[in-house]
Amino acid sequence: MAAQSDSGMLLGAIEAGGTKFVLATGTAEGKILTRESIPTTDPASTLAQTRDWFARQSSISALGIASFGPVELDRQSSQWGRITETPKPGWSNCDLTGYFASELGVPIGFDTDVNGAALGEFHLGAGRGTSSMAYITVGTGVGGGMIVDGNLLGGAGHPEMGHFYPRRGANDRDFKGACSFHGDCLEGLASGPAILARWGSTLSDLPEDHEAHEMVAGYLAQACHTMFACCAVERVVLGGGVTQTPGLIERVRRASAKAGANYLPGRDKQEVVAPGLNTDSGISGALLLAAGAHSLPS
Ligand code: ZN
Repeated sequence: MAAQSDSGMLLGAIEAGGTKFVLATGTAEGKILTRESIPTTDPASTLAQTRDWFARQSSISALGIASFGPVELDRQSSQWGRITETPKPGWSNCDLTGYFASELGVPIGFDTDVNGAALGEFHLGAGRGTSSMAYITVGTGVGGGMIVDGNLLGGAGHPEMGHFYPRRGANDRDFKGACSFHGDCLEGLASGPAILARWGSTLSDLPEDHEAHEMVAGYLAQACHTMFACCAVERVVLGGGVTQTPGLIERVRRASAKAGANYLPGRDKQEVVAPGLNTDSGISGALLLAAGAHSLPS
């Protein structure tokens, strides 16, 4: 049996992604003790497999779910904890928190997958020591979460940082963009599917002198610059599969410094960094969501 934390509290965590669900038990300090990964198929079998895995672990005191979206985060809403309208077949209106509250009988913490990752990085990873931080993930899509004075930014829904329109490069006028909603928004220009649609390859498989590297870095640099200029965050953490391309974060760092044009006050204290938790930002953050749910008055 896994050791528990000093508080004796064992927590459960789910990073619910569009291609896989990562499941874990761990401590309120974010330490992962047991873990599993299952493919995301239809909701009924994915949720049942998840429930069955938790049933085989030591019993948990609370569960944190960091989910792909869009999701309803308003606790006052009757739709809280649901995936709302998603193009992913069968998943629209899936009641994640209702299902696990009923099946596992524990308090549930809930947020988006990127907010979960932001929380994990802020408390346990590359955001430690800051008061404000943005986390941007670049993979199948582009998403982001922001923390200011320790609190996740939200209000009318949750941030969708991948869907603003960057300025197109002078040598990049023809590609229509891959976002089904906006065409050439950031996600439409810099996500994995956008790179594949444009160059027929992943970024890491293209030679390092290929124009794709500077172009993608340039768009991500505009995202970082926007975070620095609009919100004065201290760090932007860049996660997700595309950002694991060797040299990409360094390119983004250089391009984002250039985008600032020596104008922003405090820019010398602002950094573009890789995740401190590698690919565990989301699942670690989900454990922290569980810890938060446990401490809520019932
Ligand atoms: Zn878009």
